[in-house]
Amino acid sequence: MALLPKSLSRVIESFERLPGVGPKSAQRLAFYLLHVPQEDLDQFASSLENLKRNTVLCSICKNVTERDPCVVCGNPNRDTRTVCVVEQPTDVLSIEKTGKFHGVYHVLHGSIDPLNNIGPDEIYIADLLKRIKDAHYPVEEVIVATNPNMEGEATAMYIQKQIDRLAEQNGSVIKVTRLAHGLPVGADIEYADEVTLSRALEGRTAY
Ligand SMILES: [Zn+2]
Repeated sequence: MALLPKSLSRVIESFERLPGVGPKSAQRLAFYLLHVPQEDLDQFASSLENLKRNTVLCSICKNVTERDPCVVCGNPNRDTRTVCVVEQPTDVLSIEKTGKFHGVYHVLHGSIDPLNNIGPDEIYIADLLKRIKDAHYPVEEVIVATNPNMEGEATAMYIQKQIDRLAEQNGSVIKVTRLAHGLPVGADIEYADEVTLSRALEGRTAY
């Protein structure tokens, strides 16, 4: 490694820590950046610097946002009686792209994954339940749009049980639905195309 200038090896190491980037790609990216004009590099650096500084989690839905509440929660035209629960902020983008959903979201930031020690308390499930419990206009439907894999299913089942319990305590009726089949098993919501996702949303089924 002594062959490489420190400034270069540091960038390589940073790239290596990114998901899906191996040592070879990290090297290639770092060397590529050497050819980029200084001005563009400065812009890149300042975007990175502000990435976390200028974003917060929406206090209502936990989506990543520049202002709190986020544009969805702050929009009076959205129907707060329907809450769509997703694993990641990128899932919100995918569902918004379909233009078929007019409710609000709740972002869990993960899924229940016992093998990796991620239980219900490690993701934003308690916030979801509290939100439903305290809702000004009662929530009528919760669409659980977690990914169709083992962790997503486990998360969906857990949420459904908790909401059923909550509804029972409150003496209310809350419909819990799951996205329809058509989403390939094991595929992430994030990568589903708009048509497939629209169909899955329209054909959602109750538990
Ligand atoms: Zn929000």
